[in-house]
Amino acid sequence: MPSVKEITDLMVGGVNKKEEELINKAYKFSEKAHTGQKRMSGEPYFNHVFETAKILASFGMDTGTIAAGLLHDVLEDTEVTEEEMQKEFGEEILFLVKGVTKLGTLKYRGHERHVESLRKFFVAIAHDLRVVIIKFADRLHNLRTLQFVRQDKRARIAMESIEVYAPLANRLGMGKLKGELEDAAFPYVYPEESAQVEEIIKEKKDLYEKNLLEIQKELEKELKKNKIKVVEINSRMKHKYSLWKKLKKREMDIEKIYDIVALRVVVLSIEECYRVLGIVHSLWNPLPGRIKDYIAVPKPNGYRSIHTTIFTGSGGIAEIQIRTKEMHAEAAYGIAAHFAYKETGGKKAQDDKSKFKWIEELQDLNKIEGEPKKFIEHLKMDFFNDRIFIFTPQGDVVDLPEDSTPIDFAYSIHTDIGNHIAGAKINGKMSQIFSKLKNGDIVEIVDKKDCHPSQKWLEYARTTIAKKHIKAYLEKNSLLKKLMSFGKS
Ligand code: MN
Repeated sequence: MPSVKEITDLMVGGVNKKEEELINKAYKFSEKAHTGQKRMSGEPYFNHVFETAKILASFGMDTGTIAAGLLHDVLEDTEVTEEEMQKEFGEEILFLVKGVTKLGTLKYRGHERHVESLRKFFVAIAHDLRVVIIKFADRLHNLRTLQFVRQDKRARIAMESIEVYAPLANRLGMGKLKGELEDAAFPYVYPEESAQVEEIIKEKKDLYEKNLLEIQKELEKELKKNKIKVVEINSRMKHKYSLWKKLKKREMDIEKIYDIVALRVVVLSIEECYRVLGIVHSLWNPLPGRIKDYIAVPKPNGYRSIHTTIFTGSGGIAEIQIRTKEMHAEAAYGIAAHFAYKETGGKKAQDDKSKFKWIEELQDLNKIEGEPKKFIEHLKMDFFNDRIFIFTPQGDVVDLPEDSTPIDFAYSIHTDIGNHIAGAKINGKMSQIFSKLKNGDIVEIVDKKDCHPSQKWLEYARTTIAKKHIKAYLEKNSLLKKLMSFGKS
């Protein structure tokens, strides 16, 4: 039998009396409203909303969101009205449940609908991210019980999870959720490939884990000697779907993948992260080119950690990930981790706002009228591709899509600079404005009054904003020319 305690036990930092009362009230209200309803599996419908609430609690979500999780199907599937819900639970919870209900009426039906549901998703995000996080929890539980669902519906839900939900979870930095969504959907979307990956993992898992355990022991001993307090040390297995994607890139050769298992070392401070890295490299030789400092230069979705791959001596290779407690929580729960700490004041909220500036950009993007196709093109181009970080000589960071050029960089600084680029110094060297930039490049734009955009620039611009300004310039200019030639004739 489900119980309120199962939920409250999962809640970060425990619960006070008032919070427990709210969870209790939502629990009873929802249980009563769903009385007599059954899921495809034959179990009571209430089990679904109960599991959804548990997932939300395990993400570290706040009490209101967990209560809304318990109530998320009440408006759609029972006799309860909005007025009743508002009277019992107030404006905020009603808002969250209504948001989830609205999102739920969208169905994935090929490309056009896919785009439409993305649009709605983003509008919802812009209003309140918690609506989307409840939807994620709802989806995750539905995926876990997908075997009971009708065949055609099953494929639709699984595909939608991989194409819409998982990339979005990733963009929000919710790595754990992304992995779980993909792995739950994987066997339904690609049954043969998923079986193949299972087979590969089964074959190799024990060997890899045994190797890693030996490394762990040796490292723990050395860390103790150096008086570094280890908060957590353990190995993680790569998620199946992302392993498959990597295998495809490496001719399905498992020997070419170095991070199937990785050792995670969680310590208290950033300074200790670098000390651990030093100790690791003094014990084992690192693989050149595989040391990644995502603490100094975080991934665009906010991921922070140090990764290094080492030769383990016996011909083996292993990845080690080093991070602080805070980074560990963020890597798993991303944006949701920011709801977990109740004591967070105004400053934290401010930080988050600038960190997730792209959410505001999405709102603007959503205003683009017209064909859904155009919308998804922009979306793919600007938000779902990998991003690179480019520095100004003053050390300011500009976040751009992969394969961007100095043209994109210039327009991201100022339209006027963009409209007059003559050249660019990349890492101190004079370069073409059409050169592809690499993550971490320092770029200085050289501009001249008499330099102007040409058709060729369009081919080399990657960002929507640069293309927009170039096009606007070219249009204005050709109109001017026409007018002038008209005057001559
Ligand atoms: Mn549901």
